[in-house]
Amino acid sequence: MAGKRTITIIGGGVIGLTSACALVRDGHDVTLIERRGDVGREASFANGGQLSYRYVSPLADAGIAQDALGWLFRPNSPISLRLKADPHQWRWLLAFLCACNRQTNRRNAAVLLDLALSGQAELEKYREEGLGDFLWRRPGKLVLYRNAATFRKAAKSVSDPERQRALSPSECTDVEPAFEGLREQIAGGIFSPEDEVGDCFLFCKALRETLAASPNFRLIQGDATLTTGPKDRCEVQLDGKPFETDLVVLAAGIGSRKLARPLALNLPLYGLKGYSLTTRPRPGLVPSVSVTDYDNRVVYAGLGDRLRVAAMVDIGSENTHLNPKRLGELRALVSETLPGALGKGDDTPWAGLRPATPTGVPIIARTRYDNLLLNVGHGALGFTLSVGSGLRLKEIVAGFDTRAVS
Ligand SMILES: Cc1cc2nc3c(=O)[nH]c(=O)nc-3n(C[C@H](O)[C@H](O)[C@H](O)COP(=O)(O)OP(=O)(O)OC[C@H]3O[C@@H](n4cnc5c(N)ncnc54)[C@H](O)[C@@H]3O)c2cc1C
Repeated sequence: MAGKRTITIIGGGVIGLTSACALVRDGHDVTLIERRGDVGREASFANGGQLSYRYVSPLADAGIAQDALGWLFRPNSPISLRLKADPHQWRWLLAFLCACNRQTNRRNAAVLLDLALSGQAELEKYREEGLGDFLWRRPGKLVLYRNAATFRKAAKSVSDPERQRALSPSECTDVEPAFEGLREQIAGGIFSPEDEVGDCFLFCKALRETLAASPNFRLIQGDATLTTGPKDRCEVQLDGKPFETDLVVLAAGIGSRKLARPLALNLPLYGLKGYSLTTRPRPGLVPSVSVTDYDNRVVYAGLGDRLRVAAMVDIGSENTHLNPKRLGELRALVSETLPGALGKGDDTPWAGLRPATPTGVPIIARTRYDNLLLNVGHGALGFTLSVGSGLRLKEIVAGFDTRAVS
């Protein structure tokens, strides 16, 4: 560590909390400001629960634009697009399309893999040191492909056969018998035995408990805002009143965009709306491994005795309203894939906004303000990338020039 600092983090989702853990462990004094009554109540609340370390390829890839066109006209489509007269949406979509090529995808996937794996190793340490229970398991992740050409392409891209295996349909259902009924419809699967699952909200609460035990940490409930200050610095206000701090970390998920606006920072974040359903099916229907139904883009994770199913990318619906039509479509996809998993009306629906950059790579960086750092834009992989992102942030703070922030 270069020198102890007083650091304020804005946002008590999984990214703000893992940032706080990394910085407190490095000896800094950390204050976390969260506007809600509890941590982890927005995008981190009921997400898919997958710690999908080996499967971090960004959505922006060669061929995705054509695939998406097909999805848009399909019943129960995993993607919906509502174009708006909103220059930010158009800019984001254009940047997304520019990233849809093999070279950019490979480069960005390598960055994400590095972040994910460093986080996996660090999380192991947190657990060994007694992090509270968050229904964590390491059952592995199985990605099922219904389309033979897509499966062949995925099988070819397996780069580390020690840690990922291409499986035949019967091997897939041996690995996960809950999907036996799908055997005739699948072309194959890719299994990553070291991937994990957990409940992200419980993880946030466990991190909060660990942090609360440190004299160098405090959690404040309140609404933060940012304004420009003198000498290339920004200033924090808590509920409208000035709040003194040495460094500021913006980690407020999709809310970061609005917070950065008064600083004339136009963050390339868009809220990609998704849904989840949580239910308690009868035993045997909760998959043991975490499963992705690739063609429907639905993820399944067993969290204790509950099944969490998550899906849908709704572009142009930047709100968390539970749209009955989309929920009905998700229920139809799940009932078709895992019959009997959803009882009659006893699932708990949820919607959240993935704070997404066009490339899928989060922004963990300094800004033109000497005292402001960003840890934002983790999109569909925020739980997976959270611990690694905290580590990355800590390294950036450690590299700060002390004169720049004194
Ligand atoms: C349907 C769905 C499924 C998903 N599945 C997975 C998955 O299986 N695996 C995975 O790795 N990722 C998954 N994700 C992605 C993951 O959930 C997100 O990337 C992650 O939760 C983002 O965390 P965050 O901390 O950046 O944002 P958030 O969790 O939204 O936290 C931001 C916090 O900032 C606070 N805040 C905002 N503005 C202010 C302010 N002015 N003052 C104070 N506080 C403020 C908010 O109240 C909030 O608590 C999924 C997401 C969705 C929507």
